[in-house]
Amino acid sequence: MDTVEINGLKFKKLLTYDEIHNRISEMAEPLKRELNGKDPLFICMLNGAAIFAADMMRALDTPAPLAFVKWKSYRGTGSTGEIIEELPLDYDVRGRNIVILEDIVDTGVTMYNFIEHVKKLGASSIKIVCLLCKPESIKYPIKVDYTGFEIGKAFVVGHGFDVDGCGRGLRDIYQLV
Ligand code: 5GP
Repeated sequence: MDTVEINGLKFKKLLTYDEIHNRISEMAEPLKRELNGKDPLFICMLNGAAIFAADMMRALDTPAPLAFVKWKSYRGTGSTGEIIEELPLDYDVRGRNIVILEDIVDTGVTMYNFIEHVKKLGASSIKIVCLLCKPESIKYPIKVDYTGFEIGKAFVVGHGFDVDGCGRGLRDIYQLV
């Protein structure tokens, strides 16, 4: 499928499943080396990062723990700038080397606030690993350690990305036309 229509919105293909998977395998190699002997705790930012986290954890082939949190800043196809914590972190992060698995960094408001939160809880180190990043949209001072793909400002769906809950199961990633 080169195009897809969801809830009356038209999307065209941006990244194929193979491109995404090859890139995740590529990212996993240096990450694995960097985390060797560090006893990391992975944190998946729900809902969007669920598919990416599953892919990345399998690419890393690691027995390390994976925790889940849900912080939300998006409604429909736009960032609200406000953070809502829907599922809090249920894990002791004190002294831990944290690796945050995020689907996309857009304005950076979600990651910025979450990092500050994890720092306050006493994490030793924090790495951000995201599948997509929109460098032209970033407004917050965050350093993304591993990025799958840098994209423009367009809204995307597929491969974990949704529009009002739909589209997460699409194999490829599509951008709003
Ligand atoms: P930020 O806080 O960086 O502005 O936005 C991050 C969150 O907004 C992501 O975790 C994701 O849930 C959502 N988001 C940002 N851009 C997109 C997009 O293009 N498509 C979808 N589906 N969600 C997005």
